Amino acid sequence: MAHFDYDIAVIGGGAAGLTVTSGAAQLGAKTILIEKEPLLGGDCLHYGCVPSKTLIKSAHVYQTMKRADQFGLPAVTPGPVDFAKVAARIKGVIDKIQVHDSVERFNGLGAEVAFGSPRFVDEHQVEFDGRTVSAKQWVVATGSSPSIPPFPGLDSTPYITNKEIFYLDRLPKSLIVLGAGPIAVEMAQSFARLGSEVTVVQRSNQILSREDKDMADLVMENMAEEGVVFHLEVAVEEVKDLGDKRQVTIKTKGGEIVDIQAETILVALGRAPNIEGLGLDGIDVEFSRRGIVVDNRLRTSQSHIYAPGDVNGAYQFTHAAGYEGGIVIGNAIFHLPRKANYTWMPWATYSDPELASIGMNEKAAQKAGIDYSVFVEQFGGNDRALAENAGHGQIKMLLDKREKPLGVQICGPHAGELVSEWVAVLNGKMTLSGLAGSIHPYPTLAEINKRVAGSYLSPKIFSPTVQKWLKFFFRYRGSAV
Ligand SMILES: Cc1cc2nc3c(=O)[nH]c(=O)nc-3n(C[C@H](O)[C@H](O)[C@H](O)COP(=O)(O)OP(=O)(O)OC[C@H]3O[C@@H](n4cnc5c(N)ncnc54)[C@H](O)[C@@H]3O)c2cc1C
Repeated sequence: MAHFDYDIAVIGGGAAGLTVTSGAAQLGAKTILIEKEPLLGGDCLHYGCVPSKTLIKSAHVYQTMKRADQFGLPAVTPGPVDFAKVAARIKGVIDKIQVHDSVERFNGLGAEVAFGSPRFVDEHQVEFDGRTVSAKQWVVATGSSPSIPPFPGLDSTPYITNKEIFYLDRLPKSLIVLGAGPIAVEMAQSFARLGSEVTVVQRSNQILSREDKDMADLVMENMAEEGVVFHLEVAVEEVKDLGDKRQVTIKTKGGEIVDIQAETILVALGRAPNIEGLGLDGIDVEFSRRGIVVDNRLRTSQSHIYAPGDVNGAYQFTHAAGYEGGIVIGNAIFHLPRKANYTWMPWATYSDPELASIGMNEKAAQKAGIDYSVFVEQFGGNDRALAENAGHGQIKMLLDKREKPLGVQICGPHAGELVSEWVAVLNGKMTLSGLAGSIHPYPTLAEINKRVAGSYLSPKIFSPTVQKWLKFFFRYRGSAV
């Protein structure tokens, strides 16, 4: 039997790689983690979830200060934002979480941590930093990077991506955001709230293209009201550096050419897998522009090499990376044929209002050719939302022909938290009548979950047939007015 230095080797110390490393090491496998950056934690900690949610909170507080009068408080005109201080707060939060993702912690769990950029020299061995390492099983969890489109002039114009935006030393006076996915939307709203003049440029006819248009429009309406300018259904013709400003030339659907100028351009146009330099083509690991090709057990075309997380291009969320890391442990360490099941994969965009989703939305159901019915409840009818000046938004539940849930989308205050009740209901196979009949504390935003479940039941409970039977048994006399 071949001898290997390690039972399992992991490339990439982000959400997916750290999940596998900690699980494998704690289960007694001889484990090495190889990371190219000087710190562990990956995109989520350094350039993604953590800094963006910290920034969003600062922007939210500033916005609330400016709207004090809407809460019956004295109007306040806060001073301008010193972005260096916001960036310092972001760094402070990252530093706190970094402890959890430290080399010492992983060493303590029993894993070796090495730094460098490995390249496969054969299916079981990599070289990095003058060192050769072999392992029986490999995990490529190298994540993704911002995708940079070949717009004419972009390569000779300064721009920023999620790698730089949280580390700026001052607030850009104006910002053009190329793209309108979750990252673009979250950043556009935050920077607008902090005081930048923000323009969003988007190719399709809605923001957050993966979501149903009616839900995404609710987010866009609120952002537009706050001052963000949107150009939808436009093509980027050219990008130019004007010295003190940058210019993006767009072509509208009607063929009109428009020049937009701003101090800074944020490119947020999707993600590309980090596969360069790994030598995957030399060992027949299949990949495309989207990512490394994997089966439902997260195995690549070399079955001892796994690829969880952003690098496979499927669901690019931290919780998806963690889930997939768990699937890899099941297969690689426990040797169980555990398969990934994304049916109830939730996600959220942390705009205001937030937009969270689980299961199928209308777009997905239509694409799959599934018949469905829709039940909607408005946050305008939720007492807590009204108490918080947050009555903008709605919940939408989709049922199939057999009245089984297909999915739920929530656009409203704390939607990312509210969707968790549906995570439990849908994974636990709880019935809608069970949810509708359960007691929720009053007044809470979560009552909207119970209410939408009940909205599907009420026509049945209050149907003429039920009324007829009740009249028959109890001799009720009918409507009083
Ligand atoms: C601005 C922004 C906001 C986001 N917000 C959210 C959110 O709110 N919620 C959410 O769920 N997701 C969010 N995401 C997505 C989330 O960050 C990713 O889905 C998650 O980080 C993926 O984890 P991963 O382990 O696959 O990759 P990563 O976390 O990127 O980790 C990959 C690691 O591999 C290393 N690496 C890369 N190449 C090599 C190499 N050749 N050799 C060695 N090491 C290498 C990298 O340095 C990195 O440490 C956000 C992303 C961005 C950009």
